[in-house]
Amino acid sequence: MAFKNIIDLHVHTDSSFDGHHSAMFLCESAEGAGLRALAFTDHIEIDRYKQDRFDVTARDSYFHAANARSAFSGKLIVGIGVELGQPAYDPETAEKLLSVIDYDIVIGSVHNLRGMKDFCDLDYENEGACYEKLLDEYFDEELELAKWNGFDTLGHLTYPLRYIIGEQKKNVDLKKYSDKIDAILRTVAENGKALEINTSGLRQPYGVTMPELDIVRRFRELGGEFVTVGSDAHYANDLGAGIEEGMKIAREAGFSCISLFKSRMATPVPIE
Ligand SMILES: [Zn+2]
Ligand SMILES: [Zn+2]
Repeated sequence: MAFKNIIDLHVHTDSSFDGHHSAMFLCESAEGAGLRALAFTDHIEIDRYKQDRFDVTARDSYFHAANARSAFSGKLIVGIGVELGQPAYDPETAEKLLSVIDYDIVIGSVHNLRGMKDFCDLDYENEGACYEKLLDEYFDEELELAKWNGFDTLGHLTYPLRYIIGEQKKNVDLKKYSDKIDAILRTVAENGKALEINTSGLRQPYGVTMPELDIVRRFRELGGEFVTVGSDAHYANDLGAGIEEGMKIAREAGFSCISLFKSRMATPVPIE
């Protein structure tokens, strides 16, 4: 590896509905792959919290992550985090969860518009046919999330593009949304929060990080101080995937460090 410290702050275990490996196995794999640190960030979809029993998921996820952290003490830095989906749709539930579990890192994400399916499951022939309207509403929701401000890092800002460009092969001109994207980035920067460079797009048809370099650079220009890098791995094989690419993007955007989070405080780790 070209970089000394490979830190992957977005990893799902089999406590997540879409994860495939246990926290313990993922730690074993991460240590074997030479990672310095990782954070488990299982999905808690706040707008479906009660109906999908995410209270059970949250406890299960924390328990297994804490066991793995003890077992790998001194060998691997293990963060216990969460990826909160749509927290601004039900802030009360989100804040209650965060008040009872002491996470190291909270990723804030929007996976679906209000009352709609996840962008990965949308029917792009029908409800998802007008992708410009989808993106318009999506960036409004990202701004609501940024204003809610209860997270540490803003997850995969360009998430719908993984499907709209990567799978539906549509041409999207992000310049149309640049005012909205600026407002989101400015809010995150002013609130002293981090922007995530999510590298999962690199190993999917979309082929690029979420977001790409131009947006990370703009975040820096608007005063952003913190970035995290995460693979969004759902399998042990994807641990650390693209992290170095993400670190290069952070450096090109003007950051000298990436952030590691412990008890929701950022620690700078030099990109070297
Ligand atoms: Zn996500
Ligand atoms: Zn994720």
